[in-house]
Amino acid sequence: MAGGRVTRTRFAPSPTGLLHLGHAFSALVSAAEASPGQFLLRIEDIDRDRCKPEFEDAIFEDLAWLGLAWRQPVMRQSERMEIYQDALGYLGDLGVTYPCSCTRGDIKSALSAPQEGAPVHGPDGLIYPGTCRGRAMRDLREGDVIRLDAGRAFDLLRDNMLSFRDGRVHVLGRDGFLTGIGDVILARRGMGTSYHLSVVLDDAAQGIDLVARGQDLFESTWIHVLLQRLLDLETPDYHHHRLIRDEDGKRLAKRDDARSLRELRGQGMSAGDIRRMVEL
Ligand code: GLU
Repeated sequence: MAGGRVTRTRFAPSPTGLLHLGHAFSALVSAAEASPGQFLLRIEDIDRDRCKPEFEDAIFEDLAWLGLAWRQPVMRQSERMEIYQDALGYLGDLGVTYPCSCTRGDIKSALSAPQEGAPVHGPDGLIYPGTCRGRAMRDLREGDVIRLDAGRAFDLLRDNMLSFRDGRVHVLGRDGFLTGIGDVILARRGMGTSYHLSVVLDDAAQGIDLVARGQDLFESTWIHVLLQRLLDLETPDYHHHRLIRDEDGKRLAKRDDARSLRELRGQGMSAGDIRRMVEL
């Protein structure tokens, strides 16, 4: 909080497993950066196959055990599907989306064609080679995903530059986006939305001023800033924080139950011990 300005932050876990030390760190950092009473919680449960109610219960229990309190109500993405649909419709009307039927195999083989050079990875994996670009939204078929036509999206911007603040101002131009990120998926198969689309709409709806999350999402933020520009939403400030790693330097994963907060609590650790373990 600077100069009396109120800072609202959030923690946005997906209930697909137990929270681990990395989540604890992220939640504690977010909460510490919020003005009093301005720390919010959002349950990111768009992936109905992987999200489980017992993991959602565990999120509330673990965060309360860490000593965190969050402002009510808790936002739940599964209750906001219509809002995501509306935004997709709006982006479709702007002409910046197209349906795509390519499988991962199709993408790989398109990219291994000799003239294409070495495949480049972006925040969502292989950069899409554009095979279905040019298909019209009215041709959307069952099983298609919906992609962002990043080139057309940049055509609509007044300038060719995206920017956001994370300590200093970071900028990325059209070429950097097209070569390093590309036509990402905005609606996944059978899901009707994606992490990128939902997170942008939800941060705006929750009035978030500062998004604190892991460094691993830094590149994804460019997608979010582009979507904010297209949807006429404000870009919040960001704080991409360090990642908590295991002894081998690997990022912690939800599969790693041995390091779950629940397990550590069971071993008799306190919230203070957790803070020390993540060096807070
Ligand atoms: N649900 C995402 C995760 O758990 C949230 C990422 C974000 O904070 O934007 O990684």
